[in-house]
Amino acid sequence: MLKIYNTLSNTKEEFKSINSGKVSMYTCGPTVYDYIHIGNLRSYITADLLNRWLTRLGYEVRSIKNITDVGHLTNDDLFQGDSGEDKMIKKAKKEKKTPLEIAKFYENAAKESEDAINIKTVSFMPRATEHVSYMIKMIEKIILNGFAYEKNGNVFFEVDKMKSYGVLSGNTLENLDIGSRLHIPHPDKKNQWDFALWLKAPKNHIMKWNSPWSLGYPGWHIECSAMSLEYLGNTIDIHTGGEDNIFPHHEAEIAQSECVTGEKFVNYWIHTRFLLVNGKKMSKSKGNFYTLSDIIKKGYAASDLRMLYLMSHYRSQMNFTFSSLTQAKKNKERLVNTIIRLKESVSNEVAVKLTFDKFKNDFVNAMNDDLNTPKAISVLLKLSTKINKTLDKYTISNSEEILCFLNNSIQKVLGIKIEVKSVIKIPEKVMKIFKKRQISRENKDFQLSDKLRYELKNLGYIVKDTPTGQKLTRI
Ligand code: AMP
Ligand code: ZN
Repeated sequence: MLKIYNTLSNTKEEFKSINSGKVSMYTCGPTVYDYIHIGNLRSYITADLLNRWLTRLGYEVRSIKNITDVGHLTNDDLFQGDSGEDKMIKKAKKEKKTPLEIAKFYENAAKESEDAINIKTVSFMPRATEHVSYMIKMIEKIILNGFAYEKNGNVFFEVDKMKSYGVLSGNTLENLDIGSRLHIPHPDKKNQWDFALWLKAPKNHIMKWNSPWSLGYPGWHIECSAMSLEYLGNTIDIHTGGEDNIFPHHEAEIAQSECVTGEKFVNYWIHTRFLLVNGKKMSKSKGNFYTLSDIIKKGYAASDLRMLYLMSHYRSQMNFTFSSLTQAKKNKERLVNTIIRLKESVSNEVAVKLTFDKFKNDFVNAMNDDLNTPKAISVLLKLSTKINKTLDKYTISNSEEILCFLNNSIQKVLGIKIEVKSVIKIPEKVMKIFKKRQISRENKDFQLSDKLRYELKNLGYIVKDTPTGQKLTRI
């Protein structure tokens, strides 16, 4: 039974889906005004991992991740989504392109990075600009239900009206008002903590749509609510994002959605803690961030980075350094080498059976315990040590079964792509001689057995006689 930490209750809860055997999941996707960085990827990997594990547990997962190509303003975090420039437009001006060109380019780049790091579980990625009419309809309902007001062509959500505001982040109006009032709120707002659902476009604003209130554009928060309701229904099982999304973005999503449907918006809120680089926060605006291609240019594989992500728990802060990436690469290679050894080992009559039920159980228990991937990986590494020690003396009779478990756990569940290139299937001719030699030794025909050893050597294989039988290795 999976237990997962829910930000809504601040506890680990047993996972129960709304519909038996099915899971609906929404992930806040990239704002496509720049390359996605390794911090973004960390959050997306959590969603991918959760999806893979739920699938392994037998669920059918429907997973939506949006593309934010409008409405994400430069100062939204502090200013409740109504200040600063639209990130897309700012970048379009800088690169002398249209916002659409910018969005297309960075959306493709984001998808390429996700593909390279084996994020394969998203069912559909809707674009915000293609869903503005859904957002307008939703805003109309919010106004109709008495939770938003219009002034001078701008529409704001009236936080005061939503009694449950703060349910996710703890930022109730009371708590917020005790805090500082650092900024000058939008002049059309009743309360500084109200947030924008629709903003009237300034004169030369490029991205704008007709609406009942003004020629304008939607706020960032409304995008996710509208697309989640549209594609997954009123109540969904899981919503994921990075920890910075908790407030104001996810708090706003809950308020907007629940005042329209009257139903609970999300059952489990899963948040990934931030990835820092050399102890510092990465920031796209400051430009101190790494992309996946920066990592690859330095000689690492995307799967090394994936291994590194999984070596820390998604709910702990992760500090990226190249020395930790090198360690992750080594751990991955240890697992790959064990797989190679297992594949290349040849069974003989005195092969031993390696019992590994405990490892299997420990792996499952670790994953069921709030996706404890550091523990799950340490289980695989311990199993690898046990396999190697065994292979030093014997061959393993149930190697196929172990290989199946390792491949499933590493590639399917953890999503770490590995290439087991150096494995060459032992040719039948070699196997025949190997078996013939075994019989010759049993018959104590040492002359023949020496001759066969020589034949094997000429074919590129060394045969050793050990107390438990002969062992074959490639030269
Ligand atoms: P953005 O494109 O900035 O909206 O971010 C897309 C997703 O990546 C959001 O869920 C963010 O919370 C997440 N994210 C951004 N920076 C980081 C980081 N340094 N570590 C982990 N997740 C992040
Ligand atoms: Zn979102």
